[in-house]
Amino acid sequence: MKKARIVKKRPCRVCRRWFRPDPRVGDDQMTCGDPQCKKEWHRRKCKEWNRKNREYFKGIYLKKKILAADEANQKDTPEEDKIPRTRFRLGLPWQEIQEAMGLKQLVIIEYIIQVLMKRFQEVIKVQPLVNNG
Ligand SMILES: [Zn+2]
Repeated sequence: MKKARIVKKRPCRVCRRWFRPDPRVGDDQMTCGDPQCKKEWHRRKCKEWNRKNREYFKGIYLKKKILAADEANQKDTPEEDKIPRTRFRLGLPWQEIQEAMGLKQLVIIEYIIQVLMKRFQEVIKVQPLVNNG
């Protein structure tokens, strides 16, 4: 005879209300079962997962960019196309920078600029608008 699992009541990890987990789910059930709580729990877990894996994905992204630039450089591409296309119009002499530093370093510098620009834009967004007019 199969013995029914006894699952103790516990507080929902989102709304803190006490609930008795579904015996089929048991210890894995973290929320009371309310769809809002399930959704919120899922959102929190995703956020946590993304935070933990951010470095890993950044590494993959940069590796892909370097590989793509490397490939473009090996084919019979016209000289001017061998420089990685940058999204930033900073007026920098990319050709000279690449010649002096090398392609991989140029891709890495562009990546660093991209990250800094993103941070800069986030800071600007956070600052309150001041009307001096
Ligand atoms: Zn809940």
